[in-house]
Amino acid sequence: MARSPEHLAEDLGDRLRLNTPVRTIERRLGGIRLASTTGSITARMALIAMPPMMASKLDFAPALPVALEKALGVWQSGAVIKMQVRYPTAFWRAKGLSGMVMWRDPPALFACDVSKDGGHPALVVFVGGPLALRWRELGDAALRAEVTARLKEALGTDAGSFTDFSCRDWTDDRWSGGGYSDLIIDTSATDAEQTILAGAPPVYFASSELSPSFPGYVEGAIVAGRIAAQKILSEFNPQ
Ligand SMILES: Cc1cc2nc3c(=O)[nH]c(=O)nc-3n(C[C@H](O)[C@H](O)[C@H](O)COP(=O)(O)OP(=O)(O)OC[C@H]3O[C@@H](n4cnc5c(N)ncnc54)[C@H](O)[C@@H]3O)c2cc1C
Repeated sequence: MARSPEHLAEDLGDRLRLNTPVRTIERRLGGIRLASTTGSITARMALIAMPPMMASKLDFAPALPVALEKALGVWQSGAVIKMQVRYPTAFWRAKGLSGMVMWRDPPALFACDVSKDGGHPALVVFVGGPLALRWRELGDAALRAEVTARLKEALGTDAGSFTDFSCRDWTDDRWSGGGYSDLIIDTSATDAEQTILAGAPPVYFASSELSPSFPGYVEGAIVAGRIAAQKILSEFNPQ
């Protein structure tokens, strides 16, 4: 997954600044100034490519137009915990099982086979929504025990004989807010996406959530970014 942004950024060379969190975005006559923890950057335009909920946490000076501020504030981050469980063999396949399990109780627990055909037998397990918010409080050992018990019930006792169990809690993630993606939680906010897409020139926004195709996926982030970049380019070079 990490290869996609690396590939997209290759042309930027040393203009790419990593580990430079932006705190404040000043809109000034003729441009913008981004203040980060390590200094500031001035530019003619800015494209803020982060989920709406995260964008709503930035400080804008002057403040964004009220409608835009409201549109950024109607989203809530997703909540998911992802686990990868490695095994010596894909034991479920020998039993004629696919390894895909969707539990009805508890809801929002899902597992599937992510083994590579040449080896590396593994299941990936997702815990989502309210269940993720409850289970994140369990701590590593108890969460592992909960998941292992459910896998054993579904796929047999071999599910307890894993060689590695890795877990990543995305709830309240510091840099994305959470995953898989933000959702609009104010059902009256029917124009939120259009308002954010219009931005507050010279400040624009793009994120997977705002994509016309594959929103919530990496593909959506790329599509939304391309559309926003084209819009900015056309402002630089009006026909
Ligand atoms: C567990 C999990 C599994 C997923 N699996 C898949 C999958 O299999 N396939 C798929 O297509 N999608 C998957 N997704 C969804 C996918 O990760 C997102 O759709 C995608 O990352 C959204 O891209 P984005 O560029 O819009 O936002 P993000 O990926 O959130 O990128 C925003 C960037 O902004 C940076 N940032 C945040 N704050 C600041 C700041 N103040 N200053 C500077 N930079 C900042 C962040 O560090 C981050 O790099 C998954 C998500 C999760 C959580």
